[in-house]
This record gives sequence, C-alpha cells and structure tokens, in this order.
Amino acid sequence: MLNKKNKRIYLSPPHMSGEEQKYIQDAFHSNWIAPLGPNVDAFEKELANKVRVNEAVALSSGTAAIHLALSLLGVEKGDTVFCSTLTFVASANPILYQGAEPVFIDSEPETWNMSPQALERALLDASINGKLPKAIIVVNLYGQSAKMDEITALCSEYHVPIIEDAAESLGSSYKGKPSGSLGNFGIYSFNGNKIITTSGGGMLVSNHQEALKKARFLATQARDRAIHYQHSVLGYNYRMSNILAGVGRAQLEVLQDRVEARRKIFSRYSNELGDLPGIQFMPELEKTISNRWLTALTINEEEAGITVQKLLENLAEENIEARPVWKPLHMQPLFKQCSYYPHSESGSVSEALFRTGICLPSGSNLTDEDQLRVIDRIKHSIKIKV
Ligand SMILES: *Cc1c(COP(=O)(O)O)cnc(C)c1O
Repeated sequence: MLNKKNKRIYLSPPHMSGEEQKYIQDAFHSNWIAPLGPNVDAFEKELANKVRVNEAVALSSGTAAIHLALSLLGVEKGDTVFCSTLTFVASANPILYQGAEPVFIDSEPETWNMSPQALERALLDASINGKLPKAIIVVNLYGQSAKMDEITALCSEYHVPIIEDAAESLGSSYKGKPSGSLGNFGIYSFNGNKIITTSGGGMLVSNHQEALKKARFLATQARDRAIHYQHSVLGYNYRMSNILAGVGRAQLEVLQDRVEARRKIFSRYSNELGDLPGIQFMPELEKTISNRWLTALTINEEEAGITVQKLLENLAEENIEARPVWKPLHMQPLFKQCSYYPHSESGSVSEALFRTGICLPSGSNLTDEDQLRVIDRIKHSIKIKV
C-alpha cells in the first residue's frame, strides 16, 4: 500500500541553481531564440575548458553525440563496434542507426565497467577473423571511470579509436584527467536525470578540431556552402537550442557543488548501511574520483535475508524511487543476435550485478531528512528478514 503521507523521493531529479533564468532572459532580450546563438557558443567553450579538451559541440542529446562520433569514425553498415554491456540502451542504439553490429563486452568487478580481460579476448578474435571493430564505446557507469589505461593500451595496439560515453560521469576524473576527455571522442548528456541538465541535451568533445568541424556540419543538415540549399551527404538536425544552452551555462557553474553533494550522499549511505549483512557498495577505483551520480550497491540475498525485488517493493511502498542496475544489453531482446564476451570463463560479472544491484535516490537536492527515510526503510527491511 502506498503511504500517501510521504512525498515522493525521486532517484535523480533535476536540480536548478536559480541562475538559469538570467541566461534565458539574455536570449529572450536579444530575441536570440534560434538558431544556435551566443549561449551555445559560450556553453561549448565553458565546457571544453572545464574538461580540458580543445573543442566541444553542443547537441540535442547524448545519444546524438554518440551517433555523430560513430559517423565521424566512418562506422557503416556491416562494421562492428564494441560496447560496454552494462549500460543504458542509448550507448548502443546509435550503432544500429549506422547499420553496424554491436559486440558487447562484460564488466569487471573493480569498476563495474568494461573488462580489459574480455576486451583483449574480443580484440584477439576480431583480429584473427580479419574484422577489427571500427570503434569501441566505453561507458563510465554511475560516474565511475572504466580502467582507461588498460583499455587505451589495448585499443592502441589494435588501432581502434575510443568513444568515451561519459553521459553519467561529467565531473569525475581518472588519474587527474577529466572523465570524457580520455578517448578520441567523449560524450556527455544533459538529460533531466543527469548530474547537470539542460532538460535535454548533450555534448560531443574532442581534441580533433577538424572532426568536430565536420560534426557541426553533420548536425545542421549537412548543408553545403552555396546560396541555394545543396546537400551532398546525409545530415541530421542535432544542434542544441540557444535557450537550453543558457540553462546549461548556469548548471555548469555549479557542477563541482553537485559532485560534492552526490559524493556526500554516497558517504552517508555507505556509513549508515555499509555494515549491514550482505550489502556491498559500488567500489571507487584507486586514483579515480567518481561523481557518484547514482549510489549503487549489491545485495547478497542470503546474507541480507531479502531479495532485491522485495527491497525495491519495500522502498516503493514508502514512495521512494529506487531501481535495479541497468539490465546488460546482451540480455536485451533487441540485441539477442549480438556477440558477447564475458569477463572470464567462469562467469559474467554484469549478469551478477544485474541480479544483485540496486540504485538509491541520489539527487544533489535530496534532503538529509529524505535520505534518512530511505536509510531507515532499508535498515528495517534487512533487519526484519522477510
Ligand atoms: C543518459 C545516457 C545516455 C544518453 O543520453 P541522452 O542525452 O539521454 O540521449 C547515453 N549513455 C549513458 C550511459 C547514459 O546514462
């Protein structure tokens, strides 16, 4: 039964800073509603500076950014692209948009991200079969960076370019480098649930400025230089509006605060719940800083005395939104034909994480009081051993 007395606690709701209106006003004042405009230019420069890359292109979504990155890397029908399996479907959908074939790579236990071990086997097989992937998409799950050194070393050995899907990890770092800046291309998302939001939007970043020039061209219907409307290649309508870029500029100003707030929420959960039987929090790899976009943990059902399913139900009764971790893409009906490389012969790490993992409300605007409601409900659920 739903407890109506308690207001709903969301997983990761938008958190406005209050300064967004200022940039929106500027746009209205100058009537620069469209196309593109000064907020877009400034948002791109400010984000590029923040993540220390040469250039950034503001787009309508993170998915669009991945799609353009694949297109820039020449991914076509019949090609293969390797992709992390434990992620949101948006990481891999653009592979299908290009008519290419995804090959999914398992997670490893220390980051929950792409297993270098599985990647190595997949690359070796691909090279033996004479069909190396055109690109690999590495996801930084819930803010945690993948093992980029190991992955980069393998990819350089086989000359395969990397797209870093940093949709969830803006503000995180790997060995001092901003997350999203470590691949040939990086992508961010400003969807409503992400660490900062433009209500909907994305960014493609890279140090290859020529490639990003082409991304701008492709994202604006690939219009050739001519007075009449002339088109030689297929383009898209993928740019961000000047109004939304204004929201993004104000959000970017508070990114560091948002990271600190989410990390604090993680610490409190882990301090309060870390000693409960059968509970294990998502690790943070040495020399990386995760933005802890979502606090994730696994539950050993036998030790905790409760199933993931039951715990989710208990939280739902309290009007608390919690979620299982992403269902691995190789388990999705959409991708059932695709190849998959598990971490080791003895088992699939992502499948185990999917069976045992849950994500807790982690919004940077979650109040202490609301977080306590979540904590109390979990403590109660585990103590009463259903
Ligand atoms: C949110 C997300 C995306 C897609 O971003 P949109 O802006 O919603 O298109 C891609 N990859 C991951 C891992 C995400 O979490």
